[in-house]
Amino acid sequence: MIRPSRGTHIVLPSALLPVNAGAIATGEGGRTIFVLPWLGQTLVGTTDNDYDGDIEHVRPAEEDVDFLLDAAGEFFATELHAGDVAGAFAGVRPLISSGDPRKSVDISRKAELYETSSGMVTITGGKLTTWRRMAKLAVDRIVERNGRHAPCRTHEIPLGMAVEEAGLPRAEGVAEHAYGQLARRYGHAARDVLALALERSELARPILSGHPDLLAEAAYAARREQARSVGDVLLRRTRLGLVGARALCVAGEQAPERVAATIGDELGWDAARRGAEAAAFRAEAREEGIVVTAA
Ligand SMILES: Cc1cc2nc3c(=O)[nH]c(=O)nc-3n(C[C@H](O)[C@H](O)[C@H](O)COP(=O)(O)OP(=O)(O)OC[C@H]3O[C@@H](n4cnc5c(N)ncnc54)[C@H](O)[C@@H]3O)c2cc1C
Repeated sequence: MIRPSRGTHIVLPSALLPVNAGAIATGEGGRTIFVLPWLGQTLVGTTDNDYDGDIEHVRPAEEDVDFLLDAAGEFFATELHAGDVAGAFAGVRPLISSGDPRKSVDISRKAELYETSSGMVTITGGKLTTWRRMAKLAVDRIVERNGRHAPCRTHEIPLGMAVEEAGLPRAEGVAEHAYGQLARRYGHAARDVLALALERSELARPILSGHPDLLAEAAYAARREQARSVGDVLLRRTRLGLVGARALCVAGEQAPERVAATIGDELGWDAARRGAEAAAFRAEAREEGIVVTAA
């Protein structure tokens, strides 16, 4: 029932392509893409092509990267090259197949619920912005099937508490530009991240020079967000592996070692394990294709 579709995004340094509002650009064949200010950089994407490759590691397609560079370059009347890309990433959307060979852009992006005769309930498709509705659909179906009375309360449960950047306590050593990102990323829990930086001053340092993400975030990810690898921190908790992939993977950069040491303290890793985990991140980064090599 699923028709997988790969979407590729690239991140360009904002110094190279500064945007302060989202733009919709048109590329070859009339396909539209978004150019957005994102985490201090410029995000360009997405593409949408049928995909049947490896789903363990979904790499940005070279032709998609070229398409995005050409489309953004043409729209903003500037020259953009593969070597300019700060980081790239791709994902596969589990779109619901309509059974006909139309382009995936026409395929339903809605969630669909199925129940087989054995009673297994499956929900497919959907979007990040509709996950609560999807959960409600699935739970309501089971509640109804079991003849129970359990009205949904999900709309009453807040997603978390927002916090103002100015309202955060200052921790010595934390760069001023880090507070805005902490407030946006963690909301009220930014206080817990800052408490770690207050507790151990080395955690107030950035993971990667020039970027606001703190080593305290790596410790927090291991302690509170179930991060168990350097890749969990750099690719899936913070977004450093996406916005700063090239800088992170340059020969001699020790950021993966810093993250391995920080989460190693939380998880009880010895020196050999820390080294192996930093190396494992570099291998994962290669397999994920986050650094675009210039042709
Ligand atoms: C290119 C693209 C663009 C999109 N654009 C939008 C959009 O604009 N708006 C929108 O609302 N939605 C969008 N979506 C959809 C949205 O990203 C997904 O619906 C959403 O991320 C699904 O969340 P999830 O938590 O169910 O799964 P995921 O975000 O996929 O999380 C699953 C996690 O589980 C981990 N995992 C998998 N297997 C294992 C294992 N065995 N052990 C441990 N961990 C494991 C994975 O590494 C992953 O971190 C887009 C998707 C793609 C691919």
